[in-house]
Amino acid sequence: MSVAVEPMVNLPTELRPPLAHDEVLLEADRCLACGGPYALAPCTVACPADVDISGFVEALARDDVVSAAETIYDQNLLAGSCSRVCPVEVLCEGACVLTEEPIQIAALQRYATDWALQHDVPLRPAAAPTGHSVAVVGAGPAGLACAGELAARGHSVTVFEERQEIGGLIRFAIAPYRIEAEPLPAEQRALEALGVRFRFGSEVAGLDELASYDAVFLGVGLGEDVAMELPGDELVGVWESLPFIEALKTGSPPAVGERVVVIGGGNTAIDVARESVRLGATNVTIVYRRTREDMPAYSFEVDEAEEEGVAFAFRTLPVRFLGAGRVNAVECVSMRPGSPDESGRRRPVPVPGSEFSLRVDTVVRAIGQQPRPELADRFGGFEHDWGKVVVDDDGRTSNRRVFAGGDAVNGGDSVVEAVRHGKRAAAAIDRSLT
Ligand SMILES: Cc1cc2nc3c(=O)[nH]c(=O)nc-3n(C[C@H](O)[C@H](O)[C@H](O)COP(=O)(O)OP(=O)(O)OC[C@H]3O[C@@H](n4cnc5c(N)ncnc54)[C@H](O)[C@@H]3O)c2cc1C
Repeated sequence: MSVAVEPMVNLPTELRPPLAHDEVLLEADRCLACGGPYALAPCTVACPADVDISGFVEALARDDVVSAAETIYDQNLLAGSCSRVCPVEVLCEGACVLTEEPIQIAALQRYATDWALQHDVPLRPAAAPTGHSVAVVGAGPAGLACAGELAARGHSVTVFEERQEIGGLIRFAIAPYRIEAEPLPAEQRALEALGVRFRFGSEVAGLDELASYDAVFLGVGLGEDVAMELPGDELVGVWESLPFIEALKTGSPPAVGERVVVIGGGNTAIDVARESVRLGATNVTIVYRRTREDMPAYSFEVDEAEEEGVAFAFRTLPVRFLGAGRVNAVECVSMRPGSPDESGRRRPVPVPGSEFSLRVDTVVRAIGQQPRPELADRFGGFEHDWGKVVVDDDGRTSNRRVFAGGDAVNGGDSVVEAVRHGKRAAAAIDRSLT
């Protein structure tokens, strides 16, 4: 088990704060504008949305923010949200040739898109109506990107969303130190100006409801947190990660107390732990059943969490929650590597007699989201692989009228991957209709 590190003082409430105008000019001017007629710049190659990064950075260096925004929107209609949440350290900024101090591409993109949203710069020029109609189910990033791209090509697009707001997990699950509600309302207005219609509070139960549309795109994401049923999980203070973060993002932050245990090894566990530190917890521990090297979380974020004072208990498995009414301890058992599973990875097994307890005020289980296999029957009987919708290279399901993208297809990835899927399906739907 690692030992708690002295936390940093004055933790930033926003991980990636905006740049001022003069900082933008200086930063953009550092770009070497690499890439040319024979090869794209490495940052653009690394961008799943294919944004011409050196092109928009060069426009910013000339102080032409409108041209910068137009270059970005040409490929990514959700670029404002992406500038806040993209894991740029492993994408564009990670590919920057200035390896010592990469260009702050995300901050520059945020500057251009925030300016454009504030000044009503259109996402794309208006297109002549085609007379075709498309239904998009889900206003997460996959659905929004698909809807925007189709509207920009002149199709009539209606987005059905069971919630009352756009954004999907961007709005309700991505930690507030990365993104608050903004810029989603402004992105909604920009998409509406492009012609996209939203029907909020509309849960689509099945394909029958969408019979009048020429094509359907499913961007419905994944389900609730994976269940981890342990004795004592009904105790007050035991949370699942999605309701925990949603409470933070909708203005009702949980009173976490001093001692927080977060169960899991992914990026969500890291976010919950770092937000708990910001809520005032002084002893935050991530409990993970394998080793640090096995954690699915980005290693740079594991390091950042540690710098902020988060402790780690590796090779540790919680077995029950203890307390009377409210949780006050988590009983755990130590793990050791067992025999290899089908993938060759050694399965952790409990060490007999190694039980110990961690005192807690709050526990958050952050071990992933469930797939939604029930969707296949409701939406045209398409093929799926353990709940992940199977699509071809165009994002088309085995039902030719139905396309899909985002987490429902890849099992959970990133916002910009969802945008890529939305774009891919929109291009294919457009080809099939015209
Ligand atoms: C805790 C957490 C933190 C994350 N942090 C990051 C991060 O920092 N950066 C990053 O890039 N990615 C992050 N991700 C991943 C990212 O949020 C997802 O990959 C992305 O949101 C997937 O987009 P989507 O459109 O496929 O699905 P979602 O965002 O899940 O959107 C699906 C939408 O469909 C709606 N819907 C579902 N069923 C229906 C129906 N039947 N009728 C009508 N509407 C319906 C839902 O209400 C929802 O609005 C995180 C994910 C989680 C869980």
